[in-house]
Amino acid sequence: MKHRNVLLGAHISIAGGFDEAIVRAELIGCNTMQIFTKSNRIWNSKKITAEEAETFKEKLKKSNLSKILVHSAYIINLGSASKDTFKKSVKALKEEVKRCEELSIHYLILHPGSHGGGGEEAGIAQIAEGLNEVLDEKETTKILLETAAGSGSTLGKTFEQLREMYDKSHHKKRLGICMDTCHIFASGYDIRTEDKYHEVMHYFDKVIGLELLEAIHLNDSKKGLGSFLDRHEKIGQGALGLKAFELLVNDKKLDGIPMILETPIKKSYEEYGEELEILRGLIK
Ligand code: ZN
Ligand code: MN
Ligand code: MN
Repeated sequence: MKHRNVLLGAHISIAGGFDEAIVRAELIGCNTMQIFTKSNRIWNSKKITAEEAETFKEKLKKSNLSKILVHSAYIINLGSASKDTFKKSVKALKEEVKRCEELSIHYLILHPGSHGGGGEEAGIAQIAEGLNEVLDEKETTKILLETAAGSGSTLGKTFEQLREMYDKSHHKKRLGICMDTCHIFASGYDIRTEDKYHEVMHYFDKVIGLELLEAIHLNDSKKGLGSFLDRHEKIGQGALGLKAFELLVNDKKLDGIPMILETPIKKSYEEYGEELEILRGLIK
């Protein structure tokens, strides 16, 4: 029997320092994690000092964690019909990449954006244009485009839209996809039964290619299939249900791909530990 490499983690706070996230993640049994490197709702960020970066990298080396992910700020919108927002977004995303490089983190997750009235085609073209401005040959951090739930004018709600962004981008080696289970379910992809799960995965492979799948967000959904609403729920307590997650953690094709919880917490991040235990219990 082939040894499994199931990477399970959660979105962890960096309060108190980047290295504190490592301590928290290990405490609740993660072997991977996702962080923000700055406040996710403002444009500016405090510089990362050389010492902060060193401490983080040292601690990470000694930890059980691998394939660390950074989630970029929510305010970044490369698809925006406002030129000013687009410019700010390109600048902020460049900064996010630089911060990942400083921390030696190889994956940066990005919500592709929303067109806000400019139209889907124009929005997708502009997202690719923004990615082309941000990415170059020198840096290595990959930007992972996240599947969208599809509320309002958000882009990336279909595999085809994500494929188009990828096709229009020049630096393909530096691009990948993050699949969010709540978002794809909200946008109409049903993964609740074995047949449907395989159908969706095959379709993803056909349209985008499984080799581009570099991260998964494990979230149950408060709302139903095709609701286009982005409302996360704790694992097994939402409209998706446990079966979908059982299929995910037992899918050997996903070995080595970090799976990250972004489910709502009531009091403490330690609740993620309980959800990780549930997920591990589903592995056959
Ligand atoms: Zn996201
Ligand atoms: Mn997500
Ligand atoms: Mn979401």
